[in-house]
Amino acid sequence: MNTCKNCSLTFEGKYCPACGEKVIENKDFSLTHIFGQAIGMLTNLDSKLYNTLKLLFLRPGQLSLYNIQGIRVPYMNPIQIFLISNVIFFIFLSDIDIFRTPSVWFFQEDFDGIKVMDHVRQIMLEKNLTQENVAILYDQISSNLAKSLLIFLIPLLAIPNMGLHQNKKYQAGKHIIFITHYLSFILILLVFILQLAMIFSTNKWSAIIPLLIVGSVYYIISNHRFYGERWYLSIAKGLIFLIIFVVITQIYKMLVNVLTLYTM
Ligand SMILES: [Zn+2]
Repeated sequence: MNTCKNCSLTFEGKYCPACGEKVIENKDFSLTHIFGQAIGMLTNLDSKLYNTLKLLFLRPGQLSLYNIQGIRVPYMNPIQIFLISNVIFFIFLSDIDIFRTPSVWFFQEDFDGIKVMDHVRQIMLEKNLTQENVAILYDQISSNLAKSLLIFLIPLLAIPNMGLHQNKKYQAGKHIIFITHYLSFILILLVFILQLAMIFSTNKWSAIIPLLIVGSVYYIISNHRFYGERWYLSIAKGLIFLIIFVVITQIYKMLVNVLTLYTM
C-alpha cells in the first residue's frame, strides 16, 4: 500500500488514482532515468502531434468525436492544437490580408460607414506624422492584431454553429471543441494553400476559392461524422456554414481594422 504525498489517499500501484501523482522511488533520480524521461517526453509529444495532425487532416470530425467520447490521451487537446496552428500561421504568413483590410483600401473618407480619414487626420495631428507614416503604422498594427486575435473566431463561429445544431441538444462545450478543431484545420490549410499559390506565383486572392471549397467539404464531412447527421443535411448545413464563415471573417476583419484605428 502507498500513501499519496499529494492528496494523502492510500492506494495500490504506482500512480495515485485520485490525483495522478506518482510514487517516488530511488531509481527515479538516476541519470539514465532522468535522461530517458526527457527523451520520452519529447518523443511522446512528437507522436501526439503526429497522431493529432494525421487525424485532423485525414478524418474530418474524428478528433472532436474522440474528444467528446473520452478518447483523449493519444492526442493533443483542442487548445494545444489550435495554438500550434496559430504558431504555424504566424511563422509562415507574415502579411496576410484575409483577416484585415490594408491601408491602401481602408484609408478612405467613408469605409462602410466609418469615417476613416477623420481618424487618420486626427492621428497625424496628435502624433505629428505624415499620412504615409500613419499608413505604415496602421499596416503593422493591424497585421499583428489580425493574427493575435484569431482565438476570438472560436466563439464567433461556435455561436452560429450551435444555432445550426439546435436539434442535437449538445452542451456548448461540444460545439466549441468542434469549431476549435475546424478552425485549426482551416488555419493550417490556409498556410498550405498560400504557400502553394506562392510557389506557382499566382495571385494570392485566387487561393480563396480552393480554401472555401476545401473548407466546405471538410465541414460537411466533419458534420456528418461529429453530429452524425445524414449527408443531405450535412451538405445543406455545410453551405449555410460557408456563408456564416464568410460573414464572420468580414466582421472579424472590420473589428481588426477599427480596433487598430483606436489603438494607434
Ligand atoms: Zn493523490
